[in-house]
Amino acid sequence: MDKRVALITGAAGNIGTAIALELAGDGFDIALSDLDRQTPQLNALVQQLHRLGTQAISIPADVTNKADVQAAVDTTTRGLGRFDVMINNAGISQVRPFLELSEADLEAAFRVNVYGVVYGIQAAAEKFRELNVGGTIISAGSVSSYRGNPDLAQYSASKFAVRGVTQAAARALGKYGITVNAYAPGIVEGDMWNRIDADLSQEKGKPIGQSMDDASRDIALGRRAQPVDIGRVVSFLASEKAAYITGQVVVVDGGLIYT
Ligand code: NAD
Repeated sequence: MDKRVALITGAAGNIGTAIALELAGDGFDIALSDLDRQTPQLNALVQQLHRLGTQAISIPADVTNKADVQAAVDTTTRGLGRFDVMINNAGISQVRPFLELSEADLEAAFRVNVYGVVYGIQAAAEKFRELNVGGTIISAGSVSSYRGNPDLAQYSASKFAVRGVTQAAARALGKYGITVNAYAPGIVEGDMWNRIDADLSQEKGKPIGQSMDDASRDIALGRRAQPVDIGRVVSFLASEKAAYITGQVVVVDGGLIYT
């Protein structure tokens, strides 16, 4: 049987890269997509995947642009011969004191984290129907999909919206055999939290690292996530083993919030 094919957005980031490596280990061929400026990182990851025996291509696309997302799905299908799994992983976060939140902040968060996910689900579902396959769509939520973060209100609102979209799309697309789920990471070590920590440190006058440590204090397992912790759960959601799960946002946080 041909290898299954997955497209991952935000693939140059910490979690996107971990997902790519996990899915490669599962035997997928992979299309890696991210903003144009991330092409050097994507190309390095393509080379790494080739060395592992995985077919991989890189596709520049901005998820806030619906035509870009549709083109990425087309290029994946043409370039790798089939299309089975869409991972809407691209996302942005920005620290903003609640009372300083601007229209531009709200718009930026929603354009990437919500519109990007909706465009990804639509483009993937249209392609699955065209190919007559029951595919799988998996998007990035967050623990902020369940608990509003006072320093990232626009991010929290956008990630709550990912839950709404995931449930709605699962209910709309189930009749085509398409599953729609999301993963909700807690605090993952890497660039995104380093930026949040640096911004919070500046705003609150705390030393670097303190804000991340404070936020991590209640993690039951006593450690922050590594990107691979998230990649493994996405690997499960993308597998046949998760065939009867749809409309869910799976928390992967080591025991930080309880839904
Ligand atoms: P990251 O910043 O390392 O990577 C995000 C990637 O998305 C980057 O490569 C960036 O270039 C890309 N991106 C941003 N805007 C884009 C756009 N308009 N079009 C295409 N690509 C775009 O972040 P990460 O930690 O790998 O996070 C991945 C996902 O997981 C995000 O949706 C994030 O909100 C979510 N998440 C992360 C954490 C965490 O602790 N890191 C926690 C909860 C949820």
